Amino acid sequence: MDGDGRGTTLTTLGPDSIPLRIRRNRRAKRLILRADPATGEAVVTRPTWVSDAEAAAFAEKQAAWVRARLASAPPLVVFADGVEMPFLGQPHVIRHRPDARGGVWIAQGEGGIAEIHVTGRAEHLPRRLGDWLRREARRRIQPRVEAAAAALNAKPGRITVRDTKSRWGSCAANGNLSFSWRLVLAPERVLDYVVAHEVAHLREHNHGPRFWALVQGLIADMDDCRKWLRDEGGALHLIGADGA
Ligand SMILES: [Zn+2]
Repeated sequence: MDGDGRGTTLTTLGPDSIPLRIRRNRRAKRLILRADPATGEAVVTRPTWVSDAEAAAFAEKQAAWVRARLASAPPLVVFADGVEMPFLGQPHVIRHRPDARGGVWIAQGEGGIAEIHVTGRAEHLPRRLGDWLRREARRRIQPRVEAAAAALNAKPGRITVRDTKSRWGSCAANGNLSFSWRLVLAPERVLDYVVAHEVAHLREHNHGPRFWALVQGLIADMDDCRKWLRDEGGALHLIGADGA
């Protein structure tokens, strides 16, 4: 829906000039303002019958709210040498290895904290690490889906791994399953839970008691994992963002 640059105006907000993006959306029924910590921007979506100037004035009135939202957001984690990030719920430090070969690998660092080594040129590091994380996510999700599906006597369709903003996973009516690659940043039990949740939808396309009983039969600490996603899940979206 967005991101194509069309119908977008860029201006600023408040005395500290927070970038403000005004988006025209013909399906919008009212003005909607949000603060996006991943970009440091305020974004206001306006219906076609509201002008850019009116949308900007609306956002200007909420400048204090936008500033507070951006300030209280968890910090961005940029993929760069020396930066700490979670992988399978454990802290890892990114190490750029420009002279080494072999892509990306996990190594034991000094002081007991694990490291993710990334070869190649510095400007390719974010892309190379991001691609590796997506592959790792798929590599870990695939066998979990197969195991959970076997336990429920269900047959999954295609599995895709993508960067979804609003959902950790989904199950289509034809049995195709989709997962966020960011689950590979979360503790493994949380990954197990999301896989169990989506695979259980192959049997129950709803969130009724029979559905939850299936999930509970697959994993032990379902409620704890749901709470983890509610409390910590949002921060995963700020990992690997370029902040540009
Ligand atoms: Zn569901």
